[in-house]
Amino acid sequence: MSQPPNCPLCSSTYAYQDRSLFICPECGHEWSSEQPAETASQESSIRDANGNPLADGDTITVTKNLKVKGSSSVIKVGTKVKNIRLVEGDHDIDCKIPGIGAMKLKSQFVKKV
Ligand SMILES: [Zn+2]
Repeated sequence: MSQPPNCPLCSSTYAYQDRSLFICPECGHEWSSEQPAETASQESSIRDANGNPLADGDTITVTKNLKVKGSSSVIKVGTKVKNIRLVEGDHDIDCKIPGIGAMKLKSQFVKKV
């Protein structure tokens, strides 16, 4: 096991590990030993039309009329979509659109609310 890092708040060298947490006995700060780096890089890789990073659970609006493949429906500009899920691929947003159903969208055609 590696040496616990110094406390990020007070730089104490007496921090110790308790399961998945580090605890500083001097200032009482607790922080997770699990590095959130993976999540962070994933979040920043998918951006909306304005370049804002998107994350799971975000609410977005559609910035362009989008034809629904295999039907005559159109997702109109300004359609609000709640609780998106980021996925891999060309269409990188998985979501449910009211009145249409499960859809995949491209992040370049949406805007974070
Ligand atoms: Zn501390």
